[in-house]
Amino acid sequence: MQYIDKIKEIVRLLKESQKTLALTGAGISTESGIPDYRSPQTGLWEKHDPIKTASLSALKKDPAQFYAINLERWTAYNNAKPNPAHYALERLEKTGLLLGVITQNIDSLHVKAGSNRVWEVHGHLRTCHCMSCKAEHDFSNLAARFKGGENPPRCLKCSGILRPDVVLFEDRMNEDFFQATQVISGCQLLLVVGSSLTVYPVAGLPGVAKQIVIINKTPTPWDEEAAVVINESAGRVFRDIMAELGEQLPGELGNTAENH
Ligand SMILES: [Zn+2]
Repeated sequence: MQYIDKIKEIVRLLKESQKTLALTGAGISTESGIPDYRSPQTGLWEKHDPIKTASLSALKKDPAQFYAINLERWTAYNNAKPNPAHYALERLEKTGLLLGVITQNIDSLHVKAGSNRVWEVHGHLRTCHCMSCKAEHDFSNLAARFKGGENPPRCLKCSGILRPDVVLFEDRMNEDFFQATQVISGCQLLLVVGSSLTVYPVAGLPGVAKQIVIINKTPTPWDEEAAVVINESAGRVFRDIMAELGEQLPGELGNTAENH
């Protein structure tokens, strides 16, 4: 199938489906300047073994080192801005074509783009909490104190160690994940965007959907089951989907050809 025919087929499936969800991963955020740490080009994980650096045991064993390794990257996530793919998913939700977004990303970009129903199954970086008294604080508070030389950043109430509200290795899955497993029940169309579908348990979710569309730069284990597979950047694909639907993206985003 030619690229444009794939776009038309996705639009047809979207209009036909009574219950559509999106499942997004790191690939949707690369155009926002966030590297996909699993892609062979950047290979962030080849430098830092995630089991050692972003795990609960690493945080407990040496919180100062945990923050020294992870906080710069997380601060960059929080400074990133949504791209056309995030805004397109927000538009699809508002127009009633999409129920919501299940995301593996912790960068809050779906929330920033204005999506209302977002299940952040690996957590997010808007808040953190104290590992001793459980008090919740803004993540910006943690980041500011780290920047000011306080490492590890500590709870304002009890001086306990703070931890971000992300799902670390060795953590159990969060409430959003359990909600996602329920909301995906009866899903007629799942748009997989920027996920290579290799991280479990999220990688098992497509099995619940009646039909799958995969928009990812590299092949996934679900490609054979998918109705449409497009190995292109999410931003390009969603600009074309929105154009085919006759929907505008906010501001200049939908119209890059005339925008320099
Ligand atoms: Zn505390």
